[in-house]
Amino acid sequence: MVREKIMDISLRRGFVWPSFEIYGGVRGFYDYGPLGALLKKNIEEVIRRHYIIEEGCFEVSSPTLTPEDPWVASGHVKSFSDVIVECEKCGEPYRADHLVAEHTGIQTDGMNISDLKEKIRDAGIVCPKCHGPLGDPYDYNLMFKTYIGPGKRKITAYLRPETAQTTYLLFKRLYAAGRERLPLGVLQIGHSFRNEISPRQGMLRLREFTQAEVQFFVDPNNKNSDRFDEVADLQIRVWSGEMQARSSEPKEMSLREAVESGITKTQFIAYSLGRAWSLFERMGIKGSRLQMRQHKDDERAFYSSDTWDIEYISQDFGRIELVGVSDRTDYDLRSHMELSKVDMRVNKEGRKFIPHVVEVAYGIDRPFYCTLESSYVEQTGEKSRTYFKFPRDVAPYRAAVFPLVNKDGIYEKARTVYETLKNLGFYVQWDSSGSIGRRYARADEVGIPFCVTIDYDTLRDSTVTVRDRDTMKQERVHIKQLASRLS
Ligand SMILES: [Zn+2]
Repeated sequence: MVREKIMDISLRRGFVWPSFEIYGGVRGFYDYGPLGALLKKNIEEVIRRHYIIEEGCFEVSSPTLTPEDPWVASGHVKSFSDVIVECEKCGEPYRADHLVAEHTGIQTDGMNISDLKEKIRDAGIVCPKCHGPLGDPYDYNLMFKTYIGPGKRKITAYLRPETAQTTYLLFKRLYAAGRERLPLGVLQIGHSFRNEISPRQGMLRLREFTQAEVQFFVDPNNKNSDRFDEVADLQIRVWSGEMQARSSEPKEMSLREAVESGITKTQFIAYSLGRAWSLFERMGIKGSRLQMRQHKDDERAFYSSDTWDIEYISQDFGRIELVGVSDRTDYDLRSHMELSKVDMRVNKEGRKFIPHVVEVAYGIDRPFYCTLESSYVEQTGEKSRTYFKFPRDVAPYRAAVFPLVNKDGIYEKARTVYETLKNLGFYVQWDSSGSIGRRYARADEVGIPFCVTIDYDTLRDSTVTVRDRDTMKQERVHIKQLASRLS
């Protein structure tokens, strides 16, 4: 399994580590190690370039600890919950719908507590771990609850389960700061929290995770995009709700076709999906492993007019949802307007209306894993090796610098090259131990695109050997040209 090989490299070299390890660990939490933290930062930077620079979005950063009101308005206090059932003997908790689906093979989407209770009883389901009897199912809210302030003055608070709502609260400020333009896109990258019942899928289901969610505030009368042509010819595997309903396979088509045949309800949704698709390819995730899947009618939130996921087909995990693109209509701003009594309407060309929201909601941790899986290469044959084929902008380090030997002034010369590259803003790694072959292998294993070796010729003519990770080809480059070669 690729997953085990990736986890082995990850633990040894420092991409991700299970959290609180020396105290036995807690499921659903991961630490990013030295290489992982850099890779994650670079993935976030690619997202920023995509949305802030190219798309002209704003970025905001809100508190993760929030009072209760926003979550009352959004519906999270009431219904952001799963039905849980616990073993009466060993205490193991289960998601009731998953348990019933696994045991009976029936579809459990949309089942309520009493449906699930009945199914558990009828199918005679017991605790899969110890075969003990199961208690009554009950609703379990996935938000972490806490308090702000002391004593009688304390107020109920939650760790946010998503960034989106914290962005909506800023709408009036953002609209003014953006000089009242629509569509107005706002990105927020930050941590969110969900008290998952029993996370078992490693990095794919976390209790604390990083999101990058973009909210586009749009005019309900205009859900087109004037940049649609840039993505219209992308050929994408599409799995519409209707195809799923008649059990047919996804179909490859252009986004233009998807819009013209009415499969995506608006051009803006199709545009957002196309942009997300190219973002994943930029991260190093293979487009051939992606598909866009529409939520079926019974799966979509009641307020949404159209919702899609882009899914990655993992070698070991099957379908992984990487981003959700959803037309949320005026639900969010209207709900906050009703509870806060603050008018969220805008005035445009004599019309007064609540803008609609099209949300593009990425997690970071899942694309992080999929980037590792998609980039992992095992080369067999004479020159067998493993490496991560990360795109340059995503790789944790751009280059590794090696002195051929640690004497005769070569060590000092190599240090100078290393310091120069760092001063130019490159993340570079230093490695001066073992044979050059061993050092190449170590650099390849963590996906460093270039290795720079300083040798005796360097002292004579100021050239260095630059070795390319993917082709393993070596070329001599003058030190003055080195920075432009690496970029
Ligand atoms: Zn049990």
